[in-house]
Amino acid sequence: MKTPLIPIDIISIYKNSSGYLQPLPSRMAKCTPDTYSAIFKIASDLSKKGGKLILSDLFRSYDMQAQSHYDYISGKKKAYSPAPGGSFHEAGRAFDLDLNAIKISLADFWNIAKKYGVYPIIDEPDTSKSEAWHFDCRGSHQIVFQYYDEGKGTNFKPYKAAAASAILSIGEKVDAFGGNQIQANIQSCIIRLGKEIGNIDGHIGYRTQNALEDLGVSFEINNLGKMLNQVENLVQQKFSSEFIMPSVS
Ligand SMILES: [Zn+2]
Repeated sequence: MKTPLIPIDIISIYKNSSGYLQPLPSRMAKCTPDTYSAIFKIASDLSKKGGKLILSDLFRSYDMQAQSHYDYISGKKKAYSPAPGGSFHEAGRAFDLDLNAIKISLADFWNIAKKYGVYPIIDEPDTSKSEAWHFDCRGSHQIVFQYYDEGKGTNFKPYKAAAASAILSIGEKVDAFGGNQIQANIQSCIIRLGKEIGNIDGHIGYRTQNALEDLGVSFEINNLGKMLNQVENLVQQKFSSEFIMPSVS
């Protein structure tokens, strides 16, 4: 199956007319099961230190990301926002938080987040930096990051490749792959299953074909959907926490 997005009930920076903080609006309040677990574990650790995890953003649909990018280009929004296809927000794997509410240093927060596989996108814990509020839960797509970082794929920067992989995995489109979304999705799965096939580019070559056969998936070029299904099932077996509704303690 595709990586599911599940609803999450979490407090946000958005206030009602009486000035009380409201849950994150439902169009944004969706994430993958592993991100869901990580968010509540971080919130719990943080509350023990007197801080609060208050979100300002989580999931963005293709259209929401396009709008956010447009607002950045037009100068309406200062924080950088990439075009659709390059953000973990589009995969339900990134959140933005209220830095004033954490009540601990950003460095201490990084250490908490790291315990649960959640990482910042800036180099040093400096709250004055743009995107200091942004965190990613990359899950198995970290394998794609590493793969590109090691030069095994070259058509994207590592971060963008990993984000594209994460977006494909929930069944959303990535424009860079044009009409070859299923092929690119198959390639993302194969790489997360540990194979080397060159770039994720939507073009199935002999390396992809060999890797599929190694994985026990019979190659049927006229049945891409069936092949995708099979590799998605292998991914699900290997990374089950990304597919199962978490139990929160
Ligand atoms: Zn963000």
